[in-house]
Amino acid sequence: MSVKEVLERETASNLVGNEWVPSSGALYRRVNPADPEDQVGLVALTTPEEVTQAVDRACRARSEWAAVPAPQRADILGRWNRLIAEHSEDLASLMTREMGKPLAESRGELDRARMELEYAVGEGARMHGATIPSRVGGQLVYTQHEPLGVVAAVTPWNFPTVAPIRKFGPALVAGNTVVLKPALESSLTALVLGALLRDAGLPDGVLSIITGDGDVGAALVADRRISGVTFTGSTGVGRSIAETVAKRLGKVQLELGGKNAVYVHSAHDLSKVANHITTAAIQASGQRCTSISRVIVQEEIADQLVDLLSDAYSGYPVGPGLEPGSVVGPLVSQAQYDRVAGYVAQGLAEGAQRVTPDRQVPEGLYYAPTVLDRVTQDMVVARDEIFGPVLTVLRVRDPEDAITMVNDSEYGLAAVVFTEDLELAMRFAREAQAGMVHVNHGTISQPHVPFGGMKGSGVGDFSIGYTSTDFFTQTKTVYLAPVVV
Ligand code: NAP
Ligand code: MG
Repeated sequence: MSVKEVLERETASNLVGNEWVPSSGALYRRVNPADPEDQVGLVALTTPEEVTQAVDRACRARSEWAAVPAPQRADILGRWNRLIAEHSEDLASLMTREMGKPLAESRGELDRARMELEYAVGEGARMHGATIPSRVGGQLVYTQHEPLGVVAAVTPWNFPTVAPIRKFGPALVAGNTVVLKPALESSLTALVLGALLRDAGLPDGVLSIITGDGDVGAALVADRRISGVTFTGSTGVGRSIAETVAKRLGKVQLELGGKNAVYVHSAHDLSKVANHITTAAIQASGQRCTSISRVIVQEEIADQLVDLLSDAYSGYPVGPGLEPGSVVGPLVSQAQYDRVAGYVAQGLAEGAQRVTPDRQVPEGLYYAPTVLDRVTQDMVVARDEIFGPVLTVLRVRDPEDAITMVNDSEYGLAAVVFTEDLELAMRFAREAQAGMVHVNHGTISQPHVPFGGMKGSGVGDFSIGYTSTDFFTQTKTVYLAPVVV
């Protein structure tokens, strides 16, 4: 049974090509952020030599896996998806114990991950190339998708299953071998996913999961044998990975941070708008790359909207993710707590007004959902990614200023407009500098639709849906004549 198998190992191990390999590196104790007494498991800080060995293993398995027909590779992923479903309750509670999100969200995340995986399974039968008319009689010209080779994946902790599955599914179906370095805080969940893939029949050597901190991630992406790096995480780390990989002209897919803005221009029912905003902002305690963080609102409706946002934020039950009824769980770590508390303090010092009451939340890593009104564009809270349950409200007088404000950011992940004016909606969709634009709904994306950002929020092919194949494969053009003429 994979969850027990991972949690009850006596030594912290990596999963290298289907085998548990104990690491000689130091140990990290993962403790439930909702309960310091609950040790979830031990995670290894993999040594540089062990990183190299994992890449060696991926290199050895490469040609054999690439030679398996894509529909058969997909069959294995389909079996994996069914195993994930069978273990979903154990997985969901592990996710919640490991990173804190409420159990209902962990279950929802698993459903979402399984839908993304279903799409990747379908790609096994869909990765077609093109035939192109040739100028030369009797000659066949076509393109085909080939695997990149060995792919490195580095993931964050906020989506313990979606993040690795979004990479494993399309990378493996395309015929690559993969080495993953998950975030330290969500490594145990990643290892369970790997053990289930082994149980689904993934051939030895195709996938390795090595645990550790940023140094392990840096050592992995620096290995020159890796052809492509798919990374999800912060913009600063993404930049350093891009620099490393660019030197060997490798491929990168970077899904980075955001400072997502919603512009509320007009609405028939503001309470529905508030509901869309808070739903998209509060999940995972706001520790979500597409969380709404800036609410830019027309002055004439601002007071009403702020009241609605503040009511919702002050009413959310805050508590342990495993406790039924908790909507807002603890933040993932003390560092994340200090970061959020620090930003709110800085915002207040710069003149923002806290409109949510100062309420009691359980002791520990819980942060009371907070709405800051009267924020201005020059304040740090309007510019930096806070990654916590904090909404900032900026008031504007006209749409021109609003769109300028939305775009005045180093990030460009998701942007939203609520309006009853079709012309404005179309203008916003055209001018918003964001990889994903939503009109009249929050930032919740779908599991088969390309996902990504622009500017500091991402580089490379979008993930999810058909664009994934573009990243995880190399196009080859073939000119084929039966005989020399
Ligand atoms: P992070 O600090 O950038 O870490 C992401 C991963 O990179 C972790 O596994 C981390 O290891 C590793 N890492 C750190 N330094 C590295 C280096 N120099 N070289 C290689 N790997 C390195 O991000 P996080 O705190 O885990 O996650 C939060 C960030 O992710 C936010 O900015 C959020 O917006 C972004 N995010 C973006 C998306 C998206 O789709 N655009 C989705 C989710 C999250 P350790 O942390 O274990 O040391
Ligand atoms: Mg980290």
